[in-house]
This record gives sequence, structure tokens and C-alpha cells, in this order.
Amino acid sequence: MITLQAPLDSLTSIKKPTLARLKHLDIETVEDLLRHFPTRYDDYSLLKPIAEVSVDELASFEGVVSSTNTARSFQKKLPITNLILRDDAGDEIRAIWFNQPFLAQSFKVGMRIRLSGKVESDKNGLLLKSPAWEVASRQHTHTARLVPVYPETLGITSKFFRWQIEIVFKKNPRIPDPMPAELLEKLHLPTLAHAFQMIHRPESENDYLVARKRFAWDEIFLMQLRALQVKNQWDSEKSCPIPLDAQTQKTFLGTLPFTLTNAQQHAINTIAIDLAQPKPMNRLLNGDVGSGKTIVAATSMLQVASAGFQAVILAPTEVLARQHFESLRTLFTGQPFDVCLLTASYKILGTETVKRETLVAAIRQGIPRIIIATHALLQKDIRFHNLALIIIDEQHRFGVNQRAFLQQSAANINDGLPSVVPHFLTMTATPIPRTLALAFFGNLDVSLLNEMPAKRIPIVTKIAHNNADRAIVYDFIRKEIKKGRQAFVILPLVEVSEKLVDIKAAVAEHARLSKDIFPDLKLGLLHGKVKSKDKEQIMADFKNKKYDILVATSVIEVGIDIPNASVILIEEADRFGLAQLHQFRGRVGRGVHASYCFLLPGTKNTTPQIPTSRNAGQVENTRLSALEKTNNGFELAEADLKLRGPGSLFGTRQSGLSDMAMASLGNIRLVSLARDEATTLLAADPSLAEHPLLAQALTRFDEQIHLE
Ligand code: ADP
Ligand code: MG
Repeated sequence: MITLQAPLDSLTSIKKPTLARLKHLDIETVEDLLRHFPTRYDDYSLLKPIAEVSVDELASFEGVVSSTNTARSFQKKLPITNLILRDDAGDEIRAIWFNQPFLAQSFKVGMRIRLSGKVESDKNGLLLKSPAWEVASRQHTHTARLVPVYPETLGITSKFFRWQIEIVFKKNPRIPDPMPAELLEKLHLPTLAHAFQMIHRPESENDYLVARKRFAWDEIFLMQLRALQVKNQWDSEKSCPIPLDAQTQKTFLGTLPFTLTNAQQHAINTIAIDLAQPKPMNRLLNGDVGSGKTIVAATSMLQVASAGFQAVILAPTEVLARQHFESLRTLFTGQPFDVCLLTASYKILGTETVKRETLVAAIRQGIPRIIIATHALLQKDIRFHNLALIIIDEQHRFGVNQRAFLQQSAANINDGLPSVVPHFLTMTATPIPRTLALAFFGNLDVSLLNEMPAKRIPIVTKIAHNNADRAIVYDFIRKEIKKGRQAFVILPLVEVSEKLVDIKAAVAEHARLSKDIFPDLKLGLLHGKVKSKDKEQIMADFKNKKYDILVATSVIEVGIDIPNASVILIEEADRFGLAQLHQFRGRVGRGVHASYCFLLPGTKNTTPQIPTSRNAGQVENTRLSALEKTNNGFELAEADLKLRGPGSLFGTRQSGLSDMAMASLGNIRLVSLARDEATTLLAADPSLAEHPLLAQALTRFDEQIHLE
């Protein structure tokens, strides 16, 4: 008997070089091997008399070898192994294998074997090309069952995995189950041992579906356990209660040139109550681009500053920080406190540019109560004076590690308030459907701004279908620029590995547009290889109308305001998720001008995508046309979730979750159930001391995934 932790070299059936390659795939233990799940199954469960099959059928046959030989092909000199199988009814079928000379030695006339494959035919009758085979006395592993097909990389075949996993099962591994038995029973889920069996050697489709459900549950449950633990930890901290000065707030809101939306009002009230608690707020403000998050943040900062405390807002870029500084300084004109800006290039206190030391000293003395900065601020040794609120804007723009760091540094920040932590507000412009918010931000309270300020002119969105449309779009852009507007052209930048290719495409497209289409206009170019400092310069130049058109890869997707831009053209729109396209679209329509978004699907310059189903093209059109129909980011996120699954909103690789778990995250009932069960379990056993296996599983899970 072996354990799950046993290293694979203890199996003895795997050769050294293969062990090394497996290690490359992070498969080092028996458990790793068992967790290498099939991506699909070939249904060879049909064991058929040869007389009854027809061409194109997937089937398995059992019989004796009636003849076998190896010949060389005439042209290529490749060895071809021929075999004729005769079944018990006396019917025959031919099988051939190319370039596998060793096979000839495996087959002997009279030997009883099974073959599995797709039936084809040629002028000599029925034929199986390179079928899977095994000796009939053997247990069904490669043939005559639902044959698992594994992800094959580094030259390790499915056959290898099937074989080794069979060997593991024969050794009868001890598979303790971290999931409490009562819970599995309640949810009608199989034990871990049983689930491994059902996923690797299913007897029916139902087997592997049930197994997948179990593995998905594990991940979702662990995710909720961890989120709740983090939340409980945070809730046990102390914070300064910040009283609300209702009159000041009312006066402030009264000076705005607009009335708040109900969603804004509700978020402001909720945050005001949170801030007045002696425990820290940890809230996510989730509102579409343009939903007016800034004013919510400003009102919360006002509450803090009016009570004599400091509030910091962190932006992912200098341009955004600068933009916030301008609007907050204007909003807070006449208030009895100062606003300051601290980034690498700007040090401004009130209206004066000052030396860095001066500003740092002023912050330390509590002179400015509102501090706008880039996240670089936290890395430096800045001291605050009664810092009570930290706001992170455009949270989705920060990398996962950066986010973890921000939160951690925020908790340990030198806030001049020992033994308490600041209140924490994160803001994101990625509309997140409710189930996913629970799944991914389960440690946070969430406020939604699911309502747009009234009187906004909706952006007109159109899908262009061909080159004629393209020409019309270019004409349209030209007309808008004549009217004094500006335009974006967005090119895809999909994966890091493709970055270089995409940059070349961006450079080429910029050159093409400059030379052939808009020779009389000024075109800027922005892509991933542009240094962040230069990037901000280019954005600033665009804002100052140095360019008419900005050609950019998806690096553009940031909460920057270019109110004069009225058109955005997105190339190869089918390569983006709806939520992301909606983000791009939000780059326009930020001013008083009617704005337009053109989506150009198609795969110009790039490798075509493999359609996932026969109707892929059609699905694609339905998907993109959702953008024509609505400007509501939450509706689009829901649509994306339905059409393409949660992976389209949160990259699988980014989260570290399995595809199975990802697919299940769209199931709100399951996610809420995991939440409830995790709550119950932690209430009884907060540190998981009585569930050591679960605690271990959670530690392993932490290494694999990235939670907020
Ligand atoms: P985002 O949520 O994308 O950060 P902003 O806070 O930048 O959005 O707001 C976008 C624009 O909408 C700003 O010009 C802001 O002044 C304006 N705005 C905010 N709230 C309202 C409202 N209730 N009515 C009208 N305009 C509003
Ligand atoms: Mg914003």
C-alpha cells in the first residue's frame, strides 16, 4: 500500500528521464499523478461484432490476430505494420500502424487482442488506422471503455498516464478524505478515493461528471474557507470609529452640480456607517466605468478629514493620481483641510509644488488630510498622522501580488495610530456579477453602483463585418476628427507569450494607418513594451491633443479620462471578453460628445482561433451583438458568464483555479452553499484544529490559487 505523498520514483514503473519530465509538469507524487485529470474521454465502450459496424463509428473489437506483417511504404520508406483481426463470428477487419516498427514484435498470429478506434474504409474494405490495442486477457485500460485522454505535453502520452494510473490503483493507495463525511453525504458527493476512480476509469458519463462535481466543490469550498478566515481575522482588528458630521456631508453634496444616483447615495450611507464602527471596514466598491465612484470616495474621505483624520487614495498610475488630485482639490475647495499629491513626478501641497521632504514632513504632521498618491507611496517609509482610511482606485489594475502587498502594508502602515488599522475601501471598474463577487471577493463586503448617472449619452456600438465597413469606419473617424474630436484604435494583446507578435502588429498597424489611411493626421502609438513613464507621457500628449488618433494595444485599459475622444475602434474584437470590450468602450463617452464604438471581428494578422464548437461563429456574433444592445456593464458581465463561463471574466491562469471549479463558479446555489457550509464549519472550529486534513488541503490550495 502506498500513500498519496509517496514520490513517483517509488513506483519503479517510471523511468528516470520520464520522472524528470513529469517533474516539469509539477507531477512528483502519487497524488499529483492522480490529480492529473483527463481533459476528455473517447467512448470506446461499444464492443461490436465486426459485421455490425459502419464507417465513421468509434468502436472496439475483440478477436484473434489472423495475420500480421511489417512492410515499408513505397515512397517514404516508413515501416507500416499490418494486422488482420478475426472476431468470434469469423468476420475480419484490417488495422495499420505507421512508423511503429516495434509493434510487429508485439503481435503473434493467434493472439487474442482488443482494438479500439474509428472505423474507416478504403478500396480493400473496413480499416482501423493506428487504433489503440491491448491483449484481451488484460483489464480494459486503453480499449473497450470510456478511455480517458490526458493533457499530453513534453512527449508524455495519454497511454502512459492511463498505464501509470492503473498501476497506482493496483497498489491500493490510502486516500484519506479532507472533506468531512457528513458534508459529502449531505451534498451527495463521492469520497475522494471514489472520485479518483470515477474520473480516471469511469464506467459511464455520469461517473466522471459526478467526480468533476466533487473536485470543483473542493476548490470552491476551500476558497470560501480561506476568504472567511481572512475576513474573520480582519473583523477581529480594531479601527478608529469615525463619526459622521451629517451637516458637513449634506452641505458638501449640495454643492455638486448633479444629484446622486440612488446607488451612489446607498453606497455613501453604507460606507458612512462602516467608518463609524470600531472595527475596520473592508469594502469593495464595484461600479461600471463612469458610474461615479470618485464622488463616493470623496464623500467618505470628507467624513474622515472632517473628523480630523487623514485619508489616502492610491491610484495605479501617475496620470490617474493627477486626475484625482485635480477633482478632489476642486471638490474640497473651502474645506478646512489641505489636499496633497505625492507621486514620483509630482509633489503638490494645496496649490504649491514643494520639495519631497517638505511634503513628507507635512504629511507626518497631519497638515494635509487628503493624500493622493500612487501605490509607490506604500513602499516608501512614509509616516502618517492619524491615517484612518485607505482607498485603492482601479483595484483591478494592480497585479495580484501588488494587491496582497497593498493590503498587507496598509494593515502595517505607520499611521500614527498604534493598535488600530485603517479602514479600507477598494474600487474596481470591472463589473462583477454577484456570484463571482462572492467567489472571488468573499473576504470583502461589496457595494454595487449598478446604475448610471442620468442624462449620459449612451455610446453607439456597431459591429463592422467586412472591408467595406472598415472603410466606412475610417471615414467616420475622419469626420469626427474634423469636428475636433479624437479617436482610439485598439489592437489585441492577448497573452504574454504572444506579446512580441502583438507589438509587431501594433507597430505595423500604426505605420499602415499613418501612411495609407490617415497620412494627414497625427497618430500616437502605445504598446506593452513602452516604458510606463513614456506611456503616461503619451497619454498626457493625447489628452493635450498632440495626437488625433491613439493606436494602442490593450494596455490602454485604464480609468483615464479623455473627454474629447469620441470614437473607439477595436480590432479583432472577438479575441476579447465582453467585460473587457466594455472597459475599452468606456474610454469614450466621458465628455459631452456623442460617442461611438466600432467592433471589428476577424483574425487579420494573427493565427485563427480554433472554434470550440460547430456554432462558434454564431456564438461569437451573439456575444458581440450584446454590446450593441446594452451599455450596462453588469448585464454584459452576466452575459459573458453565461456564454463563456467565469474564465472570461477572470482568467483561469490568473486565479489558479481549475477549469472545473471555474465552470462551477457560475452556479450561485453552489457558491452560496459553499459559503454557508464554510461559515458553519469555521464557527465550530475557527482554526481548523479539529480538521487537520482540511487545514493541509487549504495550505496546498493557497499555494495554487490567488485570492484577493
Ligand atoms: P468612475 O466610476 O468611472 O470612476 P467618475 O467618478 O470618474 O466615474 O465619474 C464620471 C463622471 O460622471 C465624472 O465627470 C463625474 O463628475 C460624473 N458624475 C458622477 N456622479 C454623477 C451623477 N450622479 N450625475 C451626473 N454626473 C455624475
Ligand atoms: Mg474612476
